[in-house]
Amino acid sequence: MFWNRKIETMKPRTIKKLQEERLRKIVRYAYDNVPMYKKRFKECGLEADSIKNLEDLEKVPFTMKDDLRRHYPYGILAVPLSKIVRIHASSGTTGKPTVVTYTQHDLDTWSELMARIFTVSGTTRNDVVQNAYGYGLFTGGLGFHYGAERIGAAVVPTSTGNTKKQLMLMKDMKTSVLCCTPSYALYLGEAAVKEGYEPLKDFNLRIGLFGAEPWSEEMRRRIEDVLGLRAFDVYGMSELYGPGVSIECEVQQGMHIWGDEFLVETIDPKSGEVIENGKLGELVFTMLTREAMPLLRYRTRDLAVINEEECECGRCHPKIMRVSGRSDDMLIIGGVNVFPSQVEHVLMSIEGVGDHYQIIIDRDILDKLYVKVETSLESTKDKHYNEEKLRRRVEEELQSVLTVKAKVELLPPETIPRSVGKAKRVLDLRKS
Ligand code: ADP
Ligand code: ZN
Repeated sequence: MFWNRKIETMKPRTIKKLQEERLRKIVRYAYDNVPMYKKRFKECGLEADSIKNLEDLEKVPFTMKDDLRRHYPYGILAVPLSKIVRIHASSGTTGKPTVVTYTQHDLDTWSELMARIFTVSGTTRNDVVQNAYGYGLFTGGLGFHYGAERIGAAVVPTSTGNTKKQLMLMKDMKTSVLCCTPSYALYLGEAAVKEGYEPLKDFNLRIGLFGAEPWSEEMRRRIEDVLGLRAFDVYGMSELYGPGVSIECEVQQGMHIWGDEFLVETIDPKSGEVIENGKLGELVFTMLTREAMPLLRYRTRDLAVINEEECECGRCHPKIMRVSGRSDDMLIIGGVNVFPSQVEHVLMSIEGVGDHYQIIIDRDILDKLYVKVETSLESTKDKHYNEEKLRRRVEEELQSVLTVKAKVELLPPETIPRSVGKAKRVLDLRKS
């Protein structure tokens, strides 16, 4: 299903042509209206019209998260404050929050992108959308909200938390589309069973739009099994409007990035050199029509692979494969790079292991991947259950798949704190 068939089915050549036109315009706009950009360009010996085509993009200096922090709160504004109609901030997962501003034009574009995202997933005006992303400064709540309204669906704005009420409403309102973080979706499933619901019978769920944190294929399967829906991966970030940057289509092999609004590249995070598509690199985005806060070559610190092959769904907008995590989240254990999402992938593929885990960074065990993970409720009820055997198996799997030494502790079900928003997977004891 398409929300905007004309744009969604544009051929690669047409997308590139549009991108080139828009790139020239936005560079001129940023140069003329944001002093930081004019200064940067001058420092690099560039003028706005030095950027003539897509190949010239490489010359444009990067914009970093720190630039946004340094210009807190309004330093990157390209319009007078009187034109701003909304202000959000990032969740501040990795430091002081960064402020993002929107004109009415920006909000309209964002809602349009969210409307496409809902439609790609199969959501229609006949659906009841329960939106359990946080409403407030975080962009998740309002982003999904406006998109669902734009397509004419009925939105139940539950926001995060209040899990029992979420479940009651899910049943009573006949919620068919659930929006929240994947970790909260799992928690909702677990809580539903505990509260005596039979999710597959009592709920009417068919689609889940999950994002805002890294998750794995195994987690997708677990969520789908417990809630009886089809789970879609959604990626975005507040600096780039919020959610809405990309979503998986029905083929579910990567997330399409809307090429009419975003130019995406991957770079080597160390050298800053552009790397060819198909290889893992740091995602860098240029926003092509942003009015309040144009961002040129914004370094996300998220690592992913770009795939430009034509997709069976009929869309030629480039795809990114699953975002494996932020470069900041990468752990280095005994010289080996490990992402929490890889650990999750291994844990969740083992029967008997529960859905919740934590990676512990302990001063005394730095040479090992130290993981605490719950056993599943079913396994503890099994009379043949042998905890030590399962523990050893988890250690061995982690060691063999990730090629690091591992230390595993199994915990009883429901002992690791649940989160209603982004899950905290890594606990660094050195910081406490
Ligand atoms: P913060 O940067 O403070 O967490 P945001 O709420 O804007 O604020 O979070 C955006 C970040 O969340 C992205 O940069 C990325 O690291 C992560 N993220 C969002 N969606 C996904 C997803 N589908 N898969 C993996 N990571 C995601
Ligand atoms: Zn597709």
